[in-house]
Amino acid sequence: MSYASKQVKSLPPYLFSVFHEKKRKLQKQGIDVIDLGIGAPDLPTPDFIIDRLIEEARKPENHKYSPYGGSQEFKQAVATFYKNHYGVTLDPTHEVLTLIGSKEGIAHLIQAVINPGEGVLIPDPGYPVYQSAVHLAHGESVPYPLDEINGYVPDFSKVPTSQLKKSKLLLLNYPSNPTGATVERETFTSAITFAKEHNLCAVHDAAYDLVTFNGYQSPSILQAEGAMERAVEFGSLSKSFNMTGWRIGYVVGNRELIQALSIMKSNIDTSQFLAIQKAGAAALTSDLSTVKSNNLVYQERMETMVDALKQAGINAGKPRGTFFLWAKVPDGYSSQQFAEKILEACGVIITPGTAFGAKGEGYFRISLSVPTDRLNEAANRILKMNAVEERDHE
Ligand SMILES: *Cc1c(COP(=O)(O)O)cnc(C)c1O
Repeated sequence: MSYASKQVKSLPPYLFSVFHEKKRKLQKQGIDVIDLGIGAPDLPTPDFIIDRLIEEARKPENHKYSPYGGSQEFKQAVATFYKNHYGVTLDPTHEVLTLIGSKEGIAHLIQAVINPGEGVLIPDPGYPVYQSAVHLAHGESVPYPLDEINGYVPDFSKVPTSQLKKSKLLLLNYPSNPTGATVERETFTSAITFAKEHNLCAVHDAAYDLVTFNGYQSPSILQAEGAMERAVEFGSLSKSFNMTGWRIGYVVGNRELIQALSIMKSNIDTSQFLAIQKAGAAALTSDLSTVKSNNLVYQERMETMVDALKQAGINAGKPRGTFFLWAKVPDGYSSQQFAEKILEACGVIITPGTAFGAKGEGYFRISLSVPTDRLNEAANRILKMNAVEERDHE
């Protein structure tokens, strides 16, 4: 007898766990492994947010259940952030919902919207959680290709019409994990037009909305005309405020979609700890100076790593957003082979592009969210490996 359901048993394999196993083995042999596969910030949560949590945690009124959809203070803070940052007006009661991290919200929205067999257009390469969430909702993932040549901006003409008929949702993610690709507002305008033509709802995952460089500001899908009729946007405090463990995020936009998710969630959870929501509100309504100083740290690390890779013969573009570098593997290797080689020769973990979909073949992802000295050490090891190889070729 087997306890797990068919749906759970048939989830796509989680590629990261294979690497965890290898990492443990190498560490047992005494090798100092540097993990550049991590997708979470290494820097601490800013003090002013922690201070607010401590203050709120002492108040008995915050020890009770939160309202199902989240505290009014947090939802109002999200609306204020959207007004100030994007010039988008939101009704905090009907167009904002508190989430226990955006991952939860994305998975539950798909369950709240998709009937068995209906399609969800997902980016390839893209965040692996989308595919698993669609699978758990008994939906069908329809990957749409993202190509380097187009700057990883979707070419909707490449989605076969037969797949479109049964599809209900279009997922987008910019700045993108894993490619670091960013877009201008026009991309969202085209996405909304395409969604309208094909009766789709658009879902934008904006987990890295504030992790941007050189003055680039990532747009919101809600800035596109007609977006409020068919789109929602997921936001997270995890990446911009180094709050991954706090589990706090939100969804904004079309009220019917938000209502469906809200009903689904009220049967599953009772929102986040009120003190965390209030600390999160302080983060969102801050002057965002802590986000800017974090971004400078990532940018400096990026420069270091891009230079080291260049010297090793690998050209990685400098992204305008996220803390990831996405680069081509050298000729003669598959993504998996190259990741294995780097692990064995340098003790450095990188993520093979195929962990993010079939179109990730030929690429790898490096996370810059490791302490700067460790990143420098990883860069040195890659350079040394390259020097040894060149000597062997002579
Ligand atoms: C990290 C990440 C998330 C999840 O963020 P949480 O709010 O911590 O659940 C969602 N989407 C992408 C693309 C991410 O990289």
